Amino acid sequence: QNAPEKGNISIHTENIFPIIKKWLYSEKEIFLRELVSNAVDAITKLQHVNLVEGLQLAEDYEVNISIDKDACTLTIKDNGIGMTADEIRKYINQVAFSSAEEFVEKFKGMEDKNQIIGHFGLGFYSAFMVADKVEIRSLSYQKDAAGAHWTCEGTTSYELEEIDKKDRGTEIILHLEEEEKEFLEANKVREVVKRYCNFLPVTIKLEGDQVNDSAPLWNQSASEVTEEQYKEFYAKLYPMADEPLFWIHLNVDFPFNLKGILYFPRLTTEFDVAKSHIKLFCNQVFVSDNCPELIPEFLTPLQGCLDAPDLPLNVSRSYLQNEPQVRKIREVITSRVASKINDLARQDREAFSKIWEDIHTFVKYGMMREDKFYDKIKDQVIFRTTDDCKYATLDEYLVRAAAKHDKKVYYANDEAAQATYIKLFKSQDMEVVLLDALIDSHFIQFLEMKNSEIKWERVDSDVTENLLEEDRKIELAGPDEQKLQTEQVKTFFEEHLKATGLEVRVESLKDDSVSGMILLSEQTRRFKEMTRSM
Ligand code: ADP
Ligand code: MG
Repeated sequence: QNAPEKGNISIHTENIFPIIKKWLYSEKEIFLRELVSNAVDAITKLQHVNLVEGLQLAEDYEVNISIDKDACTLTIKDNGIGMTADEIRKYINQVAFSSAEEFVEKFKGMEDKNQIIGHFGLGFYSAFMVADKVEIRSLSYQKDAAGAHWTCEGTTSYELEEIDKKDRGTEIILHLEEEEKEFLEANKVREVVKRYCNFLPVTIKLEGDQVNDSAPLWNQSASEVTEEQYKEFYAKLYPMADEPLFWIHLNVDFPFNLKGILYFPRLTTEFDVAKSHIKLFCNQVFVSDNCPELIPEFLTPLQGCLDAPDLPLNVSRSYLQNEPQVRKIREVITSRVASKINDLARQDREAFSKIWEDIHTFVKYGMMREDKFYDKIKDQVIFRTTDDCKYATLDEYLVRAAAKHDKKVYYANDEAAQATYIKLFKSQDMEVVLLDALIDSHFIQFLEMKNSEIKWERVDSDVTENLLEEDRKIELAGPDEQKLQTEQVKTFFEEHLKATGLEVRVESLKDDSVSGMILLSEQTRRFKEMTRSM
């Protein structure tokens, strides 16, 4: 038998440009993100070399973007590490070859290799999505290096020559295609750079003015950031929004890298809870604001920024859906939100009660969906009760109720319709839990499933033991007359209610302000509600 053939798969380089142009990125404007992040990388690398080799090349590091309308060019210039002709041959002429790994290898001791944005060696070619000709003019930081000039017109051939260039660093000159002239408008370029590069750690200038903000808040350690700074940052991200309810500052570096600040917003009427509100960054470079996969479904209202340097820059939805790391990110967020809620609940019940009104639906939904979340948070769930409309945990309620009834929670879910019953309970010093949300009917069933010892019964259900007189008889003039009256009342109602199938009982209530009640067993009522909703 012949040994199986082995070989290398080859790529026809002529085909690579159409592929990059058409499929690599969903939006053309991403070329700016790629070229600016390369320029920032070049500066980061130089700063690192400076540190390691003590070169003292101190100056103001910056990326400069300039537009020449007459020549139809857009130029991205940096004063970073630069490239020699050899490096251009290696890193530019070889598509999908990135220098990042070599650099980290060569200059060991870079404490955070994630500081370098590029890894894949494809970003540069995104320039051909908008340009039919691209030039590189570069001067390496290395001693006695000569300037290099590379030109390519979007085919597989290039030209490379030595030039006289005095200032260290790289210029990428894009000769824009006829249809891409919008990138000759400063406003358009500013908008795109601001969107994708606002938080990059190097000054980015467009025609001399700084476009980007500064170092993002999430890179600072949480202990150094004040409450005011968190709120300011939020206001910058969402200028129209009210102050957030609370936030979590993530700074995870094991088993993966994840930074970010997530805010739980006040749920005003305009807030769309059905869509994701997180901005995803990769090393401070904006990637997308439509990544619902990163957040557990029940936390969709969360806003803010996540910086996940391990995720690729050109993430796609299908990638996110299938990436195991994304599930881990969701788990980290769930667990941090749970801890935060625990902290808030313990610190100040009154303040927590206010927040609770905005978050309880999501929290309850999350508890029903995720066991781990339920376990972490179960003791902090609070309910509004008839005791001054304050909030109590289930335990607190049960302890207070213990003298009158054991392991039973009486609740109302329509305060207006059930007012008479609530009043009756109050008159007997019995506390009623006031549920109002749609989610609560599911939630209490869920709680019963988790702990079947504790039964939830609505105030108008058929269990009003504590509301009845001990001997339950109606006391009137004398025994016989009383019996007669009771019978008469019973017959009267039975006749009139025949069609309804209701059972008539004549008993004596402790409170005489109520003359009659319709009761339905909790189980029957729930069953009816369920069939009706089906
Ligand atoms: P990546 O950024 O993923 O490494 P790119 O295709 O964006 O891939 O860039 C390929 C390589 O070209 C980089 O790794 C880097 O070595 C080099 N390069 C690109 N732009 C610059 C620049 N402005 N200054 C210095 N080197 C650059
Ligand atoms: Mg790159």
